[in-house]
Amino acid sequence: MSTIWPALEEILIKVEKPARYIGLERGAQKPAHDAKNVAWLLTYPDVYEVGFPNQGLQILYEIVNELDIGEAERAYAPWIDLEAIMREQNIPLFSVDTHRPAFEFDVVAFNLSSELVYTNVLNCIDLAGIPLRSKQRSVNDPLVGAGGHCTYNPEPLAEFVDFFVLGDGEEVITELTHTIHAWKSNSNDPKSRNHLLENLSEIEGVYVPALYEVTKDSHGHQLLEPKNELAPKVVEKRTIADLEEWPYPKNQLVPITEVVHDRLNVEVFRGCTRGCRFCQAGMITRPVRERSVEQVRTMVKSGIERTGYDEVALTSLSTADYSDIEKAVELTTDDTLSCGQVSVSLPSLRVDAFTVGIAATIQGVKRTGLTFAPEAGSWRMRQVINKLITEEDLYGAVESAFSQGWRRMKLYFLIGLPTETDEDTLGIATLAQNCAEIGKKYTKNASVTVSVGGFVPKPFTPFQWFGQNTTTELQRKVNLLKDATRKMRGVQLKWHDPKATVVEGILSRGNRALADVLEDVWRSGGTFQEWSEHFDLDRWSTAMENHELSIDWYTYRHREKTEPLPWDHLDAGLYKDFLWQEWRDALEQVGLEDCRWTPCYDCGACTGFGIDHVVASTSPPVGGSQGTWQDLENGGVRPQLLTIGTRSNGGDKH
Ligand code: SF4
Repeated sequence: MSTIWPALEEILIKVEKPARYIGLERGAQKPAHDAKNVAWLLTYPDVYEVGFPNQGLQILYEIVNELDIGEAERAYAPWIDLEAIMREQNIPLFSVDTHRPAFEFDVVAFNLSSELVYTNVLNCIDLAGIPLRSKQRSVNDPLVGAGGHCTYNPEPLAEFVDFFVLGDGEEVITELTHTIHAWKSNSNDPKSRNHLLENLSEIEGVYVPALYEVTKDSHGHQLLEPKNELAPKVVEKRTIADLEEWPYPKNQLVPITEVVHDRLNVEVFRGCTRGCRFCQAGMITRPVRERSVEQVRTMVKSGIERTGYDEVALTSLSTADYSDIEKAVELTTDDTLSCGQVSVSLPSLRVDAFTVGIAATIQGVKRTGLTFAPEAGSWRMRQVINKLITEEDLYGAVESAFSQGWRRMKLYFLIGLPTETDEDTLGIATLAQNCAEIGKKYTKNASVTVSVGGFVPKPFTPFQWFGQNTTTELQRKVNLLKDATRKMRGVQLKWHDPKATVVEGILSRGNRALADVLEDVWRSGGTFQEWSEHFDLDRWSTAMENHELSIDWYTYRHREKTEPLPWDHLDAGLYKDFLWQEWRDALEQVGLEDCRWTPCYDCGACTGFGIDHVVASTSPPVGGSQGTWQDLENGGVRPQLLTIGTRSNGGDKH
């Protein structure tokens, strides 16, 4: 085993934030290296501060290191300054745990959380000394793998990555490790890389792009067929049936330098069935699997004791929907556990599930700012996207929070949604102003920050057929909001650069032809594209033009039902007919309830996999489809505001 530490130590003094590269965090592991083991380099393709808190990576790090035959270490993308010196001095990508060079690992695996990190993936592969494209690699090169939400359309990266994992990684990483271990230890195996890839493709949830033939139809749409009999025609995602069996991370890492989300994170449930039509995370992670409140408490208790954190985040896609949320918050802030010194943050809150009870329970401990995501400015628009939050829901939650001591509030919105009019867009400013007015009743310092992002249609959502707004149109909408909020006291507007939105759009529904574009952008220096100071749309436009690919074709046009989609060979558990019906219902403003508490409408996520929702409490939380926080106060029942769809889909799985 070698280490690049002596060379690195010499140069760390010359770079910004050297603590990014030294490891030594509480909870970090330095596995003993054994050539017979399968060594994973779990790599987050962005800078350390952003990648460090990633829970998926920390979970897999622990699971592999618990195996007798596995070793896992971590790597992050080196920042521009260090990369320049590494290239000058021929220092390869390395693990932060033992500073072992990346090319000594059996697998370099990436977490793909956003399309804008793709060029960083290429950069890390190259820095690792691994040939860039899968077909150029030999049996002696590490395997390159990837997991995370972007793998639901991995085609733009398919030329660079040997295998993708779809869905929950907890079980599949052990199966991958055993398969690679068996291949390594079989002395009769001819040690062909292709043979190993074939073995991997037999694992459920694993997609090996090199085993598929790519062709085009007469309209230029990508078609894909297995060219190897072992590769499945459709790769189904993996879903762990019971989150309770996976109480990870048990040993959350504690950084020695500043990172984002620096707190204890305890995942209270996975999956979401609210059915917001723009939300890929909600669709692809179905069904809901909750931990018991007892396990949440145990994880919080042991986490606090071990890490010394004074902030706990109860994480999920929509934490206030956890069926025992008030009890979970109460137990987390319980004096016997935290001596009154621990604050709780609930990072993903639906306003219609933010109850007086939750606000009251959080009261009394240090309170951080609250974030709500109404997503759209008008009730009409929220019906289209199936985020069925009324203005009363929002104002009620805001009043609850301000009345109980909060001073700052952040509201997230999307612009460029299907059927959006200027009236819908300007509704965002009105909502924000009204929230600020409510706050001023309680404090003159009340502040409401409105954060606006351009909508990017994602695979496996009902909006996957929608033609995205152009950058010009998104910028016009941002300008409308700038004008409308300019004079509003207590309201601040922030927005994402619409130019970055178009690149996300190209990649999110892109195909393999984009490999050349990614390589061009990377070769021209386009890394860290998530960082506004490094993002440059011109690099992308030029690369698209050079390869005769049209931005309009990839992003701005609506798709027909019959059009083959680049992810048709993958299965996120949802029937394509269900998604199409949801798309049509969106245009008709027909809503659909949360199936956690209503009869199943057969989207495919449970029925197709023979699993079901797992909930901690047998009764729905207030704010579930049975009522809102206001119902408690008013003693009334929420009026039925939506048309409930009932249908059976069956048909082709997507
Ligand atoms: S299969 Fe039924 S119960 Fe499960 S997420 Fe889909 S609609 Fe809900």
